[in-house]
Amino acid sequence: MSAFNARSRQPQALPLGISFEFFPPKNDKMAENLWESVQRLAPLKPRFVSVTYGAGGSTRERTHQTVKRILDETHLKPAAHLTCVAATKAETDEIIKDYWDMGVRHIVALRGDPTTGIGTKFEAHPEGYQSSVDLVAGIKKIGDFDVCVSAYPEKHPESASIEAEIDLLKAKVDAGANRAITQFFFDNAHYFRYLERVRKAGINIEIIPGILPVQNFTAAANFAQRTGASVPEWLAKRFEGLDEDVETRRMVAAAVAIEQVYDLLDGGVSEFHFYTMNKADLVFAICHMLGLRT
Ligand code: FAD
Repeated sequence: MSAFNARSRQPQALPLGISFEFFPPKNDKMAENLWESVQRLAPLKPRFVSVTYGAGGSTRERTHQTVKRILDETHLKPAAHLTCVAATKAETDEIIKDYWDMGVRHIVALRGDPTTGIGTKFEAHPEGYQSSVDLVAGIKKIGDFDVCVSAYPEKHPESASIEAEIDLLKAKVDAGANRAITQFFFDNAHYFRYLERVRKAGINIEIIPGILPVQNFTAAANFAQRTGASVPEWLAKRFEGLDEDVETRRMVAAAVAIEQVYDLLDGGVSEFHFYTMNKADLVFAICHMLGLRT
């Protein structure tokens, strides 16, 4: 689908579902930014907003506080991310029970990255949940949470093959996962190919594409390298020479992201998860272009 054809689309007519990801702030200034973004995006009525859990459980308290604030001060449904890293089952269960008691009903269940850094071997805590599959089952035992899991259209860097990736997703679904959110990708062909394989494997849960609007190309490309997402040559070309030109970069970023979501729409996608990086403007503009109004 070309960008020209996409322009004639009338997305207002489609029933769309959106969700946003935020990360917990490290200081007061970041908290202010986060809160401004939450308030700007909230009127777009996302299905849920998720709050990440820092590598190695490093943001345990801050994730909890952010989820609580969203619950207390907005009408949004927070989804708390949780990993298996560096915690016993008893500690993780306590967090899960706390969330249930607070009124949280959504969890994004992940294995997480090793405390020794991405790319090193993951060693589960001997008394902890051993994998994302194990964690999903544990969460479901504690309460009837709505559980999201990860999915990797270009496969996780540790995956032996895309088949192994899909087998793992199937195991997460069998353990009770309700939907999956994908790692970000820039070439939609990866998503569509993956979706086809997932459906062929008999997996019928929603596979929501995770969209990363490129606020800063260099940072996004570095991040992509660590997560196994490929960066197409054409994308690099679009941001070429714009490192010092913030204004143009913002416009290009909006155009690139809107083109991506329109192409997904044309492929029948109606659910989008936005990695906001705690910045509202670009995501707000994309949602506006999708026909969403406050
Ligand atoms: P899984 O999908 O469970 O597994 C990833 C890979 O591990 C598999 O592909 C496979 O190669 C290997 N593996 C797992 N089990 C086995 C097994 N039994 N045998 C052999 N190999 C196995 N990280 C954070 O720290 N905090 C967050 O809040 C966070 N949020 C995320 C949200 C989304 C939507 C996504 C896509 C990722 C997120 N991550 C987060 C990153 C994630 O923690 C890392 O990618 C991590 O390396 C894998 O966790 P997972 O649950 O995705 O792993």
